[in-house]
Amino acid sequence: KKSLLTPKTILADVINNDARTTSTGVGVGNNNSGTLTRGIDNDDDDVPALLDHTPSYSGNAINGNLPGNDRDNADSEPIFRVRSRTAASSTPNYESLDYEVCENTLFQEEQRKSLTERFSLRKDIIRWIIFIQIGIITALIACTIDIIIEELSELKYLFLMNSVESNVPKSDITGGDLVVPFLYWILLSVLPVAFGAAMVTYIEPITAGSGIPQVKSYLNGVKIPRIVRIKTLAVKAIGVITSVVGGLAGGKEGPMIHAGAVVAAGISQGKSTTFVKDFRVFKAFRDDHEKRDFVLGGGAAGVSAAFGAPIGGMLFSLEEAASFWNQNLIWRTLVASIISVFTLNIVLSTYHGLNDFTFTGLFNLGKFDQPLKFDYFELPIFMLLGVTGGLLGAAWNSLNTKINGFRKRYIPWKFGKVCEAVVVAMLGVTLACMMIYFINDCRPLGNDPTIHPVQLFCEDNEYNAVAALWFQTPEATVRSLFHDPPGSHKILTLAMFALVYYVLSCATFGLNVSLGVFIPTALVGAAWGRLLAMVTFYLFPETEFLHPGKYALIGAAANLGGVLRMTISLSVILMETTGVETSFFFPLIIALISAKWVGDYFNEGIYDTQIEVNHVPMLPWEPLPQYKGLRAREILSSPVVCIKLRDSAHYIYNVLKKCDHNGFPVVDDVKGVRRSEGRVCGIVLRSQLIVILLKSLYVENSHFWLPNTTIQTFRDVYPRYPSIKSVRKLDDKINYTVDLAMFMNPSPVRVNAHDSVPRIFQIFRALGLRHMLVINNENRIAGIITRRDFIYK
Ligand code: ATP
Repeated sequence: KKSLLTPKTILADVINNDARTTSTGVGVGNNNSGTLTRGIDNDDDDVPALLDHTPSYSGNAINGNLPGNDRDNADSEPIFRVRSRTAASSTPNYESLDYEVCENTLFQEEQRKSLTERFSLRKDIIRWIIFIQIGIITALIACTIDIIIEELSELKYLFLMNSVESNVPKSDITGGDLVVPFLYWILLSVLPVAFGAAMVTYIEPITAGSGIPQVKSYLNGVKIPRIVRIKTLAVKAIGVITSVVGGLAGGKEGPMIHAGAVVAAGISQGKSTTFVKDFRVFKAFRDDHEKRDFVLGGGAAGVSAAFGAPIGGMLFSLEEAASFWNQNLIWRTLVASIISVFTLNIVLSTYHGLNDFTFTGLFNLGKFDQPLKFDYFELPIFMLLGVTGGLLGAAWNSLNTKINGFRKRYIPWKFGKVCEAVVVAMLGVTLACMMIYFINDCRPLGNDPTIHPVQLFCEDNEYNAVAALWFQTPEATVRSLFHDPPGSHKILTLAMFALVYYVLSCATFGLNVSLGVFIPTALVGAAWGRLLAMVTFYLFPETEFLHPGKYALIGAAANLGGVLRMTISLSVILMETTGVETSFFFPLIIALISAKWVGDYFNEGIYDTQIEVNHVPMLPWEPLPQYKGLRAREILSSPVVCIKLRDSAHYIYNVLKKCDHNGFPVVDDVKGVRRSEGRVCGIVLRSQLIVILLKSLYVENSHFWLPNTTIQTFRDVYPRYPSIKSVRKLDDKINYTVDLAMFMNPSPVRVNAHDSVPRIFQIFRALGLRHMLVINNENRIAGIITRRDFIYK
């Protein structure tokens, strides 16, 4: 009989005996959605069958390898992995972080020992020091990236301009040979892009993209593998340098946020798992809960360094990234942001030879000389710009998602991904060259803020306005669009530029390169904002309010709002980076909110879309609509794999081997019933159980381990806990006992099977839980709920 118990045979048996089967116990309900229901299929009630009401289901018991079904043997209860079909089959298995502090006896002992005021003060001071370090180191990394990008870009564009000028004689205003400069341009774009894409693809694929969706998911409580490793930081930094120097339509801001998060996660732990080096400091911060707060500070420091906007950085973390907040955290995050901007300012000002420390932020949009004024009749125009931004942003998000879907499907090979990045880089250069070649837009020298104007096809004392847009970094082009005097471009130039960049940025975001979406989005918005002002002025030449820079700024804000769907932080960031007066906050927020509302009508912001497309189980702010009106019993999983308060090491070993759950209720009072019906006394994590087995913390060994075992025993292996495979088979210790009393979390959050789902969702989300136990009126286990149950059932 044992050998016949594979999942398939159980399933077949259940389906064949459907008529005999009656549903029973908790977990009954919601059957149409494929939820598993425990039933009784034969007279051996120690072998619960898994009944699926949709016959196509195939993913219930793990490995099909049930550890025996002999009812006399206490260790022989079947272990099940119960999952909804959607969760099991179509989503990658992201694990969760444990934001709930496990207040077990060891933890409480540590707390008691450190009850002195001096200790708490010391811990607090260390926390502040870590946040300050995060700010400084993030800024130093930002400076390094920025200086390298700036120097290499300068060399590249200077070389290209010289090449243009030597191949197209100044006197030749009708044509000339652009082939050689074009080939050089292609080469200088393809080489760095290919290098960066290869690094990202072959060395650390998690570094692809901006990194913001990953950091956001991490802060929501989803464990994204390798997201905060040193290797990730190194590849990200090189990736972003090569992509920007290669001229791809992207920016360095998103990657800076990721870089800040990695720095924070690294510093706060006082050890490097990659270099196997433990500095034996900051040990008290080695858990997910503490680390999360530092990562948030790191993200904020990254944004602040990127934009030179400390308040914007903090607000960005608040609006976009953080899922959990408290007052102290706001303070520390702000301090990390301020320190980051200050450090960056000192280093870059020194580097650029300024003696008044005025260099703020990597994303230097230049300050408006004159205060930007607006009239009240312009407000509806700003709103219209916002609506346009919302529509364009929604279309961009949807197009980008389609392109990425296509990529995933048709370009699965690594080499193909590198080639694709190269092709997009070549496409960008070709489109730029075509624009320069076909559009004749010459402007008189003198007003142009471009450092190296190109005369290409223009008379003496003129420069080529199209080449000026392309022969610099995208960030410098945004600056030009904000500050160039009126009449610096033709309508056709800006219209083509906005269109080309819109398409290019859409094709670029999603390539296997490290790049952010902020700059291209702002650039497209600035181009069409300025364009609209020019068209209106062309139609109504007597209008006086049409300052092109002002409309470029509103256009940038509207486009950013349409793509990213952030409002508060974006308006503050734009104000901080351009130095506009607080009175201009109103037009900015009008444009941003209109863009967000219009965009939200069609789809989600680009970061959320990416999270959704990758099936990351992110908990939304509110429960999903389909969960309203449900009760806990309709979404829980049961039977639950439980462990007895004093259980055999062998049983625990088997559970960990055969089942991949990460949390197990600890139960007692199991006489006459199965473990899965025991009385709840706590919860224990897989990682804790593995440490217990690895360190042989058995009752029989108590005289050896009791004095030496502290909470540090568990922290030492954080965050890369060994897997169960590293535990030797327990042949000689088969009868040893583990007493979980001092290791388990004795106060897990428990809810009743009748509680409403929206309510338990709020508890789950607010406390950052990983497991929630569902009990009946006698405190016996009725089921278990994890984040997946709030999303996929
Ligand atoms: P996570 O993956 O979030 O870190 P986990 O691995 O313990 O935690 P999930 O992978 O989210 O849990 O769980 C998948 C499904 O298994 C969910 O439906 C959940 O309710 C169920 N489940 C989790 N733990 C147990 C358990 N001990 N016994 C039975 N079912 C469980």
